[in-house]
Amino acid sequence: MNQPDRTPLLAVKHLGVAFQTDRGQVLAVDDVSFELNAGQVLGLAGESGCGKSVTALSVMRLLPKPVSKITQGEVLFKGQNLLELPSDAMHKIRGKKISMIFQEPMTALNPVHTVGRQIAESYSLHFPGMGEKQKNTASLQMLEKVGIPDARQVMKKYPHQLSGGMRQRVMIGMALACEPDILIADEPTTALDVTVQAQIMDLIFQFRETTGMAVILITHDLGLIAENCDRVVVMYAGTVAETAKVTTLFRQPFHPYTKGLLKSIPSLAQKAKEPLPTIPGNVPALSEMSAGCRFVERCKRALTQCENQRPRLMPVSSGHFAACHLVYDGEKN
Ligand code: SF4
Repeated sequence: MNQPDRTPLLAVKHLGVAFQTDRGQVLAVDDVSFELNAGQVLGLAGESGCGKSVTALSVMRLLPKPVSKITQGEVLFKGQNLLELPSDAMHKIRGKKISMIFQEPMTALNPVHTVGRQIAESYSLHFPGMGEKQKNTASLQMLEKVGIPDARQVMKKYPHQLSGGMRQRVMIGMALACEPDILIADEPTTALDVTVQAQIMDLIFQFRETTGMAVILITHDLGLIAENCDRVVVMYAGTVAETAKVTTLFRQPFHPYTKGLLKSIPSLAQKAKEPLPTIPGNVPALSEMSAGCRFVERCKRALTQCENQRPRLMPVSSGHFAACHLVYDGEKN
């Protein structure tokens, strides 16, 4: 009998990314690993600057050059290491197999081209045999699918003539035009009003229902993760602190950082005017990281070995891993 193929759709393995700064080289992403299966929604959570976006840009091979460099690791898409692909082969994957949407669509949309032309370009790039008329029809249909009213008129407009919510819909339309296997959504709703945020998330998940694509949702908003994701990877200062199924992580967090993050979410049980608990201290600068646990200066549970021994991801329970010396210490969550 044939064994089922268990190759994950995407496997990031021991990824390291360094940036050249005035203070020398700093490791912005250090030994990050996770997997994504077909149709799964994976949340990448953590504070700004924790390496979520740098990880996503590494997957897309869109890191700024020459200031950044991948120092180690693999990004396996269907078993193929994207970091070793020639640029033209990567062009065929980016946008067609793996697409990305960003927090601020103006940075991704071209201000001097009409919306219609920009969507049509996605088709030109990946389906060179498509005629002009076909591309126009497909672009119009895509704008209608992403809920743009009066799409025919919007095709003729420039990005600056649209509201933030409409621009985000256009960018989603461009990202989904080729029905990718993976959509990476990097803080897709942070810049939008709350009601528009909900519409945009609904839109992404409607597409996921119909196409079965997998989603990596990058956000600092744990509420969005709880509502939408199957698994979550919590990152801190360029490292993976903890990863688990969403239900496990929210019910039984292990890592002191994850516990702190979860306590800082407002709840209805909270008394009015009662201040929200916060994690004391700040994320250290990447150039001043401890050789041990990167969370050590903010951790109330720190052990002596935390200062100089880097904790590696260890199993807490089935499918639940934390990078914390308390795991070795036999602590239960
Ligand atoms: Fe705290 Fe040590 Fe665990 Fe780091 S390894 S989170 S310092 S207990």
